[in-house]
Amino acid sequence: MLTLVWAELALPDAHSVPQTRFGVLVEGSRILETGSYDALRERHPSVAVVGGEGLLLMPAMVDSHDHGRGLGSASLGVPDDLLEIWLPGLWNQPVIDPYLAAAYDGLRLLRSGVGVVAHSHNPRDWRNMAAEAELTLRGYADAGIRVAFHPPIVDQNQLVYADLEGFLAQLPSDLRAQALPFANAAPLERADYFALCAELFARYHDPQQHNVHIQVSPAGGQWCSDELIVAAVEFARQHGTRVQMHMLETQYQRAYAARCWRTTFVRHLDEIGALGPWMTLAHMVWADAGDFALLAERGVAVAHNPSSNLRLRSGVADVPGLIKAGVTLGIGLDGHALDEDQDYLRELRLAWTLANRPGSASPTISAQQLFRMATSGGVATTFGAHAPLGRIAPGLLADLVLVDWNAVRGVWFAPWADPFEALLRRATASCVTHVMIGGRWTVRDAHSTTLDEAAIVAAIRSELAMQSDPTRRPHALVARALAPYLRQFYAAWEETK
Ligand SMILES: [Zn+2]
Repeated sequence: MLTLVWAELALPDAHSVPQTRFGVLVEGSRILETGSYDALRERHPSVAVVGGEGLLLMPAMVDSHDHGRGLGSASLGVPDDLLEIWLPGLWNQPVIDPYLAAAYDGLRLLRSGVGVVAHSHNPRDWRNMAAEAELTLRGYADAGIRVAFHPPIVDQNQLVYADLEGFLAQLPSDLRAQALPFANAAPLERADYFALCAELFARYHDPQQHNVHIQVSPAGGQWCSDELIVAAVEFARQHGTRVQMHMLETQYQRAYAARCWRTTFVRHLDEIGALGPWMTLAHMVWADAGDFALLAERGVAVAHNPSSNLRLRSGVADVPGLIKAGVTLGIGLDGHALDEDQDYLRELRLAWTLANRPGSASPTISAQQLFRMATSGGVATTFGAHAPLGRIAPGLLADLVLVDWNAVRGVWFAPWADPFEALLRRATASCVTHVMIGGRWTVRDAHSTTLDEAAIVAAIRSELAMQSDPTRRPHALVARALAPYLRQFYAAWEETK
């Protein structure tokens, strides 16, 4: 079964010049041929054709770090704050069924031109993570999006970093008693975690069609002991998969590393043998140029999360520094886009704008460099450098996006203007018209072909309506009461400038 997809304008990858009247011949799940649409049409006169004038063709993009929560935390009544204060707010949120959350996120990401999502799981119930994993994977599969799934594990510092006793001593006694359960060090035994990962890996990991990758995730450096991180790396290397961790998201995490080891987190991870081409680190706001050089040398990838870093008051990652060092980069929404809409194209616009910093000495970061982070860089960050995705070329998997180019170029588009810049400056998810993943159309005319999105939304609404009594969420009140004490605790960790 052959399909010929074409557009007036195409951006086959971040490095090629834009192509006009460009065609892609798709057979099954792969790209068979690319080139002049007119020539392909002449040689294959009877194949099905999708595309046309006024459209732009590009590879599907990659959301390199996300959580599949379904709804943003603002809609669930958890206000943005410092990460360390916001996280306890997630305790005892209303529960969205993992299938519905993943299906809804998958549909919205596809509609914004994303074909791969890295899902860092937020367990509703740690003891039930095997069932949650299956539901999540089914939700993404039914939506039609590829997923790198990584169940998390933590074994320390859940309530505060390093000095739990000192923190608890500051609390009034009744709040101390309420807070203690959240300091529980090990919600899941290490052996049970790796048994779960091994089982998921055996059942779902798919290195041929790349529909699902199973990876491991010691959730963050400060939340995991060195032994746990090293065990996760060993698991990944034995299974030929990847590790994804949150890393250096906040200045308090950098301060934690300095207190523990009198060095940077990155150098410490290197000392314990954790850094290598199997590793992806999300956020990396509080790293320095020396760290970047080491990451590049070890082949570590970084997932950049600009909206989330702004909303949780973490800061702005040094993308020009990472690019200069040669670090492999992807971009992730982290479930926390500025507009809570999982609009990946708008996130690219924010990332591009923030990457161009004030001052004559700051380098100019081009739209192509950001496009690369969204496509081939995102694939390398999420699935590894050799996955056959992220570009439009013969032999690769057919993950294609058609964008309403007329809507993007607007009133007038100068012949000398750069289409990469136009895409990044002006496009949003509303401009995405068609999306093909692995040769299968998942979005046609801006609507999902896989699931009934209205029915998914209705199911989420009715599930949440049954949980609308605030008195049944006492942990959320504890989190709110803890906020001023957490703020005071971490104030002492801040660097003086
Ligand atoms: Zn995250």
